[in-house]
Amino acid sequence: MPFSTIAGHRRIRALLSRAIARNTVPPALLFAGTRGIGKRRMAQAVAEALNCTEPLTTEAGIDACGACVACRRIGRGAHPDILVIEPGDSGSIKVEQVRDVIDRAAYRPFEGRKRVVIIDDADAMVDAAQSALLKTLEEPPSASVFILVSSMPDALLSTVRSRCPRLRFAPLSPAEVAEVLVRDHGYQEADARAVAADADGSLGQALEASSTDVTGARDAATQLLMRVARLADASGRIELAKALTGAKGSPGADRKELTACLRALASLLRDVGVLINRGDRELLAHADLESTLAGLAATWDGPRSVRAFGAVDRAIMALERNASPKVVADWLVLQL
Ligand SMILES: [Zn+2]
Repeated sequence: MPFSTIAGHRRIRALLSRAIARNTVPPALLFAGTRGIGKRRMAQAVAEALNCTEPLTTEAGIDACGACVACRRIGRGAHPDILVIEPGDSGSIKVEQVRDVIDRAAYRPFEGRKRVVIIDDADAMVDAAQSALLKTLEEPPSASVFILVSSMPDALLSTVRSRCPRLRFAPLSPAEVAEVLVRDHGYQEADARAVAADADGSLGQALEASSTDVTGARDAATQLLMRVARLADASGRIELAKALTGAKGSPGADRKELTACLRALASLLRDVGVLINRGDRELLAHADLESTLAGLAATWDGPRSVRAFGAVDRAIMALERNASPKVVADWLVLQL
């Protein structure tokens, strides 16, 4: 995939594209940042731009065409010069995997101009694997580029880290996540925005969440915030809690539904905080609900929304520790 198809990360795209045009790509790079934000896609884009047979000149530098034989083979994971290492069933990357790639990287590329070695979840390399890699990083083969991809870069040996210039990938903005959902995953605009708002800037998380009814969860969360504030008595509030776990009847479905609802509550409360503090409207995750949010901000004044946010956070943690969805929902409505 060309750089131009990657969501967000403009600065990093431009930097890499320029380095490729000037032939100044370092022999090793570390792509660091949380899961699901496009680090591996970016590594693949580098591999394509370096080996594309009909590269495009862009404002930033060089980009792959995405259509030539080399680009298509890289896209399918079938190019002999693009080597990918990732954790096996054991969850770790073994020294043999790294040695095998290092042996192959010692030769000139078979077809392409540059051999690109992508080590995904590089922090999963056992120490022996990292030590083996280190020797190669100290004297890198001239026609190879090593790209280490990691969401926990500090778990790598410091000696390995010091050999790899680090590119920090920031979480995507909700608008960037929504754009990809519409463009590549067939989402309707409103659904995409609702899913993106609760995805913590991770496209991966957004796609995982898409199996639950995120729009429904957001509606339930909005209703709860509007109604609970006016209810002082406990029994009325417990009645509201029932709407949060739905009536699926199975504990697994209830848990999933409540988790989606709690995430929606958290991001709505965050937005209310933005409005109360007169923050930048660009920061709103639910920009499409601005008038509803303004209504909520009138009831959920500063300290109250902060307290509620804390309670929602504790509820999410309790669910992750396997607490009963019903108990969590009942507890939460009494805290708000
Ligand atoms: Zn191409």
